[in-house]
Amino acid sequence: MTATVAMTTTTTMTTPILVDGFETVVGLEVHVQLATTHKLFSKARVRIGQPPNTDLDAVDAGLPGALPVLNQQAVVFAARLGLALGSTIAVTSFFARKHYFYPDSPKGFQTSQGDEPILVGGSVSFVVDDVSGATLTVPLTRAHLEEDAGKSSHGTDGTRLDLNRAGTALLEVVSEPTMRGGEEAMRFFRALRSIVMALGICDGNLQEGSMRADANVSVRRPGDPLGTRVELKNINSPRYLNDAVEHEAARQRRLISGGDVVVQETRLWDGEGGVSRSLRSKEMAPDYRFFTDPDLPVVVVSEALLARERAALPELPEARRLRFITAFGLPAKQAAVIVDEPMLTSSFDAACALAVGHERAVANWLVNDVSGLGDGVVVAAAALARLVVLVETGELAGRDGKAVLRALTDNDRATDSTWVDAYVDEHALRLATGQDAEAAIKAIVIAVFADSPTQVQQVKEGKDKVKGYLVGQVLKRAGTGVDPKLAQRLVDEAL
Ligand code: ADP
Ligand code: MG
Repeated sequence: MTATVAMTTTTTMTTPILVDGFETVVGLEVHVQLATTHKLFSKARVRIGQPPNTDLDAVDAGLPGALPVLNQQAVVFAARLGLALGSTIAVTSFFARKHYFYPDSPKGFQTSQGDEPILVGGSVSFVVDDVSGATLTVPLTRAHLEEDAGKSSHGTDGTRLDLNRAGTALLEVVSEPTMRGGEEAMRFFRALRSIVMALGICDGNLQEGSMRADANVSVRRPGDPLGTRVELKNINSPRYLNDAVEHEAARQRRLISGGDVVVQETRLWDGEGGVSRSLRSKEMAPDYRFFTDPDLPVVVVSEALLARERAALPELPEARRLRFITAFGLPAKQAAVIVDEPMLTSSFDAACALAVGHERAVANWLVNDVSGLGDGVVVAAAALARLVVLVETGELAGRDGKAVLRALTDNDRATDSTWVDAYVDEHALRLATGQDAEAAIKAIVIAVFADSPTQVQQVKEGKDKVKGYLVGQVLKRAGTGVDPKLAQRLVDEAL
């Protein structure tokens, strides 16, 4: 069964970038932690920050005889992602046991999907050139459901196990090896994050490891078959992903140029140290003895489920980005910045709904000013919209607007939109607008010009700097409550 969603994207191929005659090839496997309330096969809750070994039950602890029951919410989330990415959604798929010994995986195997995953194919599209807005479409191999392992922490007094994370639902998204370097890998990761967050299937919390990528990297001379790949495990930040890929590609180029060969292996990337370490080579690659899990029935995705999900599919980041450009006239780069950060996107959409016609200004305030206030600062969309409307209609000077924004956050009032007007009035910042205001200022301009003939003459002779003096005189005489932009315009007109 094929489910596709219309995606209006321009597909362009990026030109292979050659370094010393080599091109880099990257394929990603991204583990997306699904935002299910409960674990994939048990009734235990999924939460962060709980005391060790409190969120687990007999299934997660691997107790003999404990039977797994599939969490349907995970199936719904997987199907939703499949619809969004244009994947083929399998009507039936299966769970398999992947055997290996990890102390934090007490069953002795991981329950995962083998040959028959829930999603096959599909693609992720994203901008590769901020200025032109050119996009790249990366085809996907598959995506499958699997459970996460617990955590072990190694101390001087021994190893501690915490099984709170054991059994948490993951969707592993596997790309084809078509990316050409760290930059594309980083953008792929960010785009996937925006998508899963827009779909409400993952919280996108990178610090907590809600998305972890394994990067497969090889290099080759253009036209050659794919080179031997090295897998870099467990990277949870787009920036580290970029660094890890570039570092590994350089290592491989050095090896080959020096007459050596690349050994297929798994390496660990140390983001802070900026180095990778070998974990295991192909010769040590484990034999997982995959077989279909006898405790779990076949996974079924019904037509009814798909119809429900299709009808409720939200606007996707790529469609949203194009809408911001075409409907609001945002520059390509700004549209991409807003779409890349789901928090910005929701603030932007909500504020635009309340400041119709001023969308570009909303984007500028959001990207340049609100973002600059620091991480975690929230300005309610209603408050931001009101601020933008006041400035855009000339009721508030832009400079004063910035002060209001700072006051909003300082006073912890950022969630209260009526506070903006109250603050503006309390500090007598509201500017006169309309025809009466204009007529009054025009009269002042005439008076100032009459008193300063020398300066007027200087401006007319091309000394533009002196114009500031005239505008200053107008503002001084008019007292507070005059829009500097209006005074400037009227002085220009009088000249
Ligand atoms: P495994 O399951 O053993 O990790 P797969 O063949 O399923 O191996 O590939 C996993 C990932 O490796 C995929 O994302 C794929 O695109 C990528 N990949 C495969 N071959 C190469 C290669 N030569 N260079 C870079 N990436 C590759
Ligand atoms: Mg792999």
